[in-house]
Amino acid sequence: MTVEAIDLRSDTITKPSNPMRQAMAAAEVGDDVYGEDPTVNRLQERVAEMMGKEAGLYVPSGTMGNQVCVKTHTRAGDEVIAEAGAHVFFYETAAAAFLSSVQVYPVQGHNGVLNIEDVRRVIRPDIYYMPKTRLLCLENTHNRAGGAIYPLKDLAEIAAFAHSAGLAVHLDGARLWNACVATGVAPAEYCRHVDSVSVCVSKGLGAPVGSVIAAKKEFVTEARHYRKIFGGGMRQAGVLAAACLYALDHNIDRLKEDHEKAYAFAQKVSVLPGVRVKMETVQTNIVVLDVSETGKKAAEWASRLRENGALLGVSGENTLRAVTHLDVSLEQVMKVAGIVERVFGAS
Ligand SMILES: *Cc1c(COP(=O)(O)O)cnc(C)c1O
Repeated sequence: MTVEAIDLRSDTITKPSNPMRQAMAAAEVGDDVYGEDPTVNRLQERVAEMMGKEAGLYVPSGTMGNQVCVKTHTRAGDEVIAEAGAHVFFYETAAAAFLSSVQVYPVQGHNGVLNIEDVRRVIRPDIYYMPKTRLLCLENTHNRAGGAIYPLKDLAEIAAFAHSAGLAVHLDGARLWNACVATGVAPAEYCRHVDSVSVCVSKGLGAPVGSVIAAKKEFVTEARHYRKIFGGGMRQAGVLAAACLYALDHNIDRLKEDHEKAYAFAQKVSVLPGVRVKMETVQTNIVVLDVSETGKKAAEWASRLRENGALLGVSGENTLRAVTHLDVSLEQVMKVAGIVERVFGAS
């Protein structure tokens, strides 16, 4: 590429800023496998407190955060219920089967939100020749549902139902921060209803690496054991945790700017011929463009857009995904909207 393309593929592409790098350079560190990294410990305590949980655990990725929790909640041969588009089912390379020997039962939701009746129907009866349904995984915001927020009331209701049915509840809160900023609901308000949560610091918050899980002390002690088994025991990880602490201090409130950019982008591209955007799901920093009516596949559009200086993700055969983040300005996002307009208009 001759000119640098504007990259809206994901909020994971954000790079650590100079002041964040300074915080990393200044971090006090120790061996975190010995539990002796003061900066990691501070991060874990801080996130646990924000989530209203007893303890936290820093892990290298959101996938590991989810999978360590799946492992801690289940035994081999169990079943886990997740929404059909959930990251834990869709994007984690069958890790639940690979690492925990459990089966995921996908249930179709509406904008990422599960219907209680639909979940009730798939919980297994207590019969020896069936798997034991052990865990319900929720996702907020929901990635494949276009960043839609899981409404607090729905989350509370389904979690209460799952608990009454004897299931544990895990929340994939990779973008929980976005939900909180958009709604004004505190993270602990969502997390009060779940047994474990995993939040990403490497997405919209702009840290280079890591997620934090939070849960009861006992759970986290066991999760730490599995983190080591999964290869996630890190040594002087304080340099990374310092970036996360910096992100928590400086980059949460500003997520609302990402939401405004996404909404402005969505409004502009949703009126283009052949492009459909489910505006009701444009609640945070993700916009999904359905191009099925254009007669061309999403991958072809993505490569045309790329040639014109705009990078969008391909999230399905007929869907493109744009994600706003702290490394793109409103002008750049609107420039991409202009490129989309031009490219779709020219064909
Ligand atoms: C990005 C993401 C994750 C974790 O992804 P990693 O690349 O493993 O850090 C988990 N859940 C959701 C919903 C995500 O969007």
